This record gives sequence, structure tokens and C-alpha cells, in this order.
Amino acid sequence: MRVIDRISKSKSTLFSFEILPPLKGKGIEYIYEGIDPLMEFKPAFINVTYHREEFAYKKREKGYLEKIAIKKRPGTVGICAAIKSKYDVITVPHLICGGFNKEETENALIDLHFLGIKNVLALRGDAIKTEVAFVPEEGGHAHAVDLVKQIVDLNKGIYLDEEIVSPHPTDFCIGVAGYPEKHFESPNILNDIKYLKQKIEAGAEYIVTQLFFDNQKFFDFVKLCRNNDIHVPIIPGLKPITTKHHLSFMPKFFHVDLPGVLVEEIEKCKSEEEVRQIGIEWTIAQSKELIKFGVPCIHYYTMGKSEAVKKIASHAF
Ligand code: FAD
Repeated sequence: MRVIDRISKSKSTLFSFEILPPLKGKGIEYIYEGIDPLMEFKPAFINVTYHREEFAYKKREKGYLEKIAIKKRPGTVGICAAIKSKYDVITVPHLICGGFNKEETENALIDLHFLGIKNVLALRGDAIKTEVAFVPEEGGHAHAVDLVKQIVDLNKGIYLDEEIVSPHPTDFCIGVAGYPEKHFESPNILNDIKYLKQKIEAGAEYIVTQLFFDNQKFFDFVKLCRNNDIHVPIIPGLKPITTKHHLSFMPKFFHVDLPGVLVEEIEKCKSEEEVRQIGIEWTIAQSKELIKFGVPCIHYYTMGKSEAVKKIASHAF
């Protein structure tokens, strides 16, 4: 089923979550261990992130260094197919522009289509660690909007090779990312909304937001979207703070602010267990308020650890 149809059919707020492929070398059981505890909340869909290659240097003879590309977390497509079949749940693979040319993107979409996966979260991806800014692959896309357009074309049966006879159309429902606190490269929120609108006009059917800790920022973002004629469902993304380290990690990695009250509460904690408790309570309160606001779904970032999200879901849903 397509995510947008699942949302349209529901009268109450849905529960969904995101997982990461495990580090290379781990088995699929690792994924199931993270999903099993959350299945009792009947997830509307499960997202699986995509991780592009990183570069590393290996020492070779005579002191030479060899630059090699490694994918530390491969398996997005395989995981989606495996959990779709095991749990009979809607799976949403993330597809990124980074590291893909258009041909590779098309082939990835064909794989997904053959596997019966009808949903994709279309993203640009970040710059790789050795680059200061995002560099598109040669013959690839520079922005998520271009990826959305390619998927929409495939949904119309338009393949890159115009000579294909009787091309079979795909039927992907496309989601895109939105940023209540604006994307970190964007000069201001209105500029970011302008480009978000382009993704919707190109054919994306819903938005999933970057995580945030202050619901007011989400409410303001929804209002801004509606005022700018973006009327698709907007799904808030939440992640609980679980360690003191998150106080600096979250702003640095996700470019979000943490409310003063939350920071003060966490700074007072004497153990990591206390921090976890505060983080979970904060996300429960956020979830309850978002449900009251009438959001279509709440999407939790598990980072492969389901314990905290299980506690939150058992109080909020
Ligand atoms: P875009 O929509 O392309 O926007 C990127 C920047 O360019 C923004 O500042 C925007 O305002 C601007 N912009 C957009 N279009 C144009 C245009 N036409 N001309 C000029 N400027 C433009 N990353 C991964 O690598 N793997 C994942 O699995 C993953 N999952 C994610 C899931 C969610 C819900 C979110 C919120 C993010 C995720 N990311 C993931 C991170 C994401 O790839 C980065 O935030 C990336 O920097 C931007 O992606 P985007 O799709 O929002 O890009």
C-alpha cells in the first residue's frame, strides 16, 4: 500500500518509525530485534535509511596510502524487502541523490518496483565527510526535487531510454524531507519553504520533518507551509535524548535547537539513566501534544534502538 493511502484512510494519528541498516557484518536478526518490540503499536510504515559510501585510506607497501570507498551500512533495499515479507508492513526505503547517477537511480527504482515496494522517501543526502559541500554524482541529481521528478516520470512510464517499447509504469508514493528549523544550508526559512514547495509541485505527496524538540517550531512550520500553499500531510519526526552527549550532538548533527528547560533538566542529571528518563518524558509530552494537534502520524527515529521509543509509544498511543 502507498503511504498516502494509509494516511488518508486513518482517522487518528498513526505511529511509524525509522531504522538504520546495521553495520556491515551484522545479520538481519539485528534488524528484527529492533523491530519486534515495536510491532505491538502497529506501525503504519517503517522507513529504512540509505547510507552512501565513505572514503578511507589503507596503508599499503612502502608507505603508500590507497583511497578506498566503503559502504558501512549497505542493505537498504534488502532490508525493506525482508521486513515487508516478515511483518507484512509498508516499508519506505530512503533513496538519495548522492553517489547515484540517473541510470543507477532508475535501476534502484526498478528493483524496488519488482519487490512490490511502493514507497520512497526522496532525499538529496549530505556531503561525504571529505567534501565541504554536497557534490552531485556525474550524471546524477543536485537536489531532491530532481529525484522526485525522475520518480514521477517512471510512474508515467517514462524511462531514461526513450526507445523502450511499451514501458511499464511504476506506482511510487513519494515522500520528502522538511525542516521546521530550516535546512542548515538554506539562507532563511522562506527560501527553504520555496524549495520544499517545488518538491511537492513536482509530485511528492507528503513531508516527513527533521527531528525537533520544541513543538511550537513544528506548529509554526505547518502554518508557514499552509500559508505558502503546501497542503500535503506533514509528519513530525521525533527522537528522544538518551545520553548527555546528545546535548551537543543533536545541534551539531541535526542543526536543531534544544529548549532551555530541557537542557537545564538534563544538565542536572546525575546519571545517564536519569537523562534517558527525562528524554523519554519530554518526547511523550511532545507526542501527546502533537496528537492533540491532529498530526496524521508521528515518525520516530529509533537509530536501531527500540527501547526508548517503545516506552514513548506505550504512553502516547
Ligand atoms: P533538498 O531538498 O535538495 O534541499 C537541500 C538544500 O538545498 C536546502 O537548503 C534547500 O533549501 C536547497 N534547495 C532545494 N532545492 C533547491 C534548488 N532547486 N535550487 C537551489 N537550492 C535548493 N540523508 C541520508 O544520507 N540518508 C538518509 O536516509 C536520510 N534520511 C533522512 C530522512 C529525513 C526525514 C530527513 C529530514 C533527512 C534525511 N537525511 C538523510 C538527510 C538529508 O539527506 C540532508 O538533510 C540533506 O542535506 C538534504 O536533503 P533534502 O532531501 O532535504 O535536500
